[in-house]
Amino acid sequence: MPKIKKSNDEWKRYLNDTSFKVTREGATERPFSGQYNQFYDKGIYQCICCGNELFDSSKKFDSGTGWPSFDDPLSSTSLEELEDRSYGMTRVEVRCISCSAHLGHVFDDGPSPTNKRYCINSASLKFIKSKNE
Ligand SMILES: [Zn+2]
Repeated sequence: MPKIKKSNDEWKRYLNDTSFKVTREGATERPFSGQYNQFYDKGIYQCICCGNELFDSSKKFDSGTGWPSFDDPLSSTSLEELEDRSYGMTRVEVRCISCSAHLGHVFDDGPSPTNKRYCINSASLKFIKSKNE
């Protein structure tokens, strides 16, 4: 998939301030502040920057952390995972594969057989409601 590259000025034109800071600067939204934290409608979550399909609502669970959490991505090829050693921790950062938007982090303490907990900022996601509902 071709990489989408835009300047920060271009991204700022169609992202709000929070989404810009999260996706392009790697910020983290405050816990329990995001619009998708307690949100369980059926549909698909896309990258807010480029529309790449990232997560299905059926994989979303309430982790109690204050951020939307998923135990599996829609496709292993829609994300890229990078080692993140910021803040004195070693974590695995999750980015959109097509536009490199920062999404959140993935941890190995999920409740389901995947053991994965994708801890994702609401500000990096765009929800598309399922048409079959
Ligand atoms: Zn993207």
